[in-house]
Amino acid sequence: MPKGGQTPSRQVCGRFAPTPSGRMHLGNVFAALVAWLSARAAGGEMVLRVEDLDPRAASRERAELLIDDLRWLGLDWDRGPYWQSERGAAYDEAIERLAEAGLIYPCFCSRAELHAASAPHASDGTPVYAGTCRGLSDEEVARRAQVRPPATRLHVPNADDPAGTIEFCDLAYGPRREVLARECGDFLVRRSDGVVAYQLAVVVDDALMGVTQVVRGRDLLGSCARQIYLGRLLGWEPPEFGHVPLLVAPDGRRLSKREKDLDLGALRERGVTPERVIGLLAAAAGLAEPGCEATPSELVAGFSWERLRREDLVVDDAFLARLL
Ligand code: GLU
Repeated sequence: MPKGGQTPSRQVCGRFAPTPSGRMHLGNVFAALVAWLSARAAGGEMVLRVEDLDPRAASRERAELLIDDLRWLGLDWDRGPYWQSERGAAYDEAIERLAEAGLIYPCFCSRAELHAASAPHASDGTPVYAGTCRGLSDEEVARRAQVRPPATRLHVPNADDPAGTIEFCDLAYGPRREVLARECGDFLVRRSDGVVAYQLAVVVDDALMGVTQVVRGRDLLGSCARQIYLGRLLGWEPPEFGHVPLLVAPDGRRLSKREKDLDLGALRERGVTPERVIGLLAAAAGLAEPGCEATPSELVAGFSWERLRREDLVVDDAFLARLL
């Protein structure tokens, strides 16, 4: 079977899925570039979806800047932008279907309770939900709901139930196997403030938008099992997944949105060209010769997942000297 369980005839559809919580930084640019190259090299299309679910973190103005940055880079798309903030009905419907199947329940646990030192933790350090609110009686739910609104969680199978073991093959990082009960436990599909959880929204959107290939930073590799499982419950074939290395500082710390001098706003202001940004990232990732300056289109013919390096990309003084 081909990687990711794809049927070979499925036309590739990739996506950009930026969260407009800040200006685009080099890490986002790199993930967007590989997503675009992978889809275009397969003759596929691209969708643009703005992940502005959380009204506290997202702004329309920043989203417009992100969209402008993609255009400036030469990364185009065929459908969208779709706005998650306008897609509430699709998410509600999916949650309704899960509710009808008896797969979700209200959870009243506070942040402090979830992060209690006694809670078991997954390999990435996040707490595994202990199932505290599983099986509350209707009376108990009604009583607690008067004190605070609940979040909504999805039941995952117990560790010894094979239905909760998810296997897939990442285009870059190879075969993966995760036991949901050990990695995360029952996970959120809606937060207590009513905002739909990222995992749910992404699965609904990727399925309804016809996305067949999800390419993004390797920090989200640990979300795949939850997304595949949710999609399975909702009757959808999973996309294939390809994760890309992160950009890190020389001390191994992840470059983040806080590194303002490396966001595209700052770089464009300094007169850095899109060809330089694209060429430098591609060369650092093994997709182009060192010193190359290129448009994304010029890199399509040479793209392959085999060429892409798996190690994180170190943004050191030499990298900056070539960029600026
Ligand atoms: N919106 C997420 C981000 O900007 C990406 C989500 C995804 O690719 O699944 O980090």
